[in-house]
Amino acid sequence: MGKFLFWALLGLGVYLLYRAAKRRNQRQAEDQRSSAPEVEDMVRCEVCHVNLPRSEAILTHGHFYCCEAHRQRGEGVSGDDI
Ligand SMILES: [Zn+2]
Repeated sequence: MGKFLFWALLGLGVYLLYRAAKRRNQRQAEDQRSSAPEVEDMVRCEVCHVNLPRSEAILTHGHFYCCEAHRQRGEGVSGDDI
């Protein structure tokens, strides 16, 4: 009976070690994924000078804007016709 208990505990220990190692690997992978920032160019709105990723900016005539309203203001489009 003592021998059975020994093997049972050994198996349990191996299983727990295996599970812990697997979980640690997963966490490392997630850390690498989250800590590695997506390399994206930051651009600045011509009107409010806020920095934003290029993919979210509006590019018109070589100028970046954070939103449509600022694009219109930057382009000199009249926004008075409300
Ligand atoms: Zn802006």
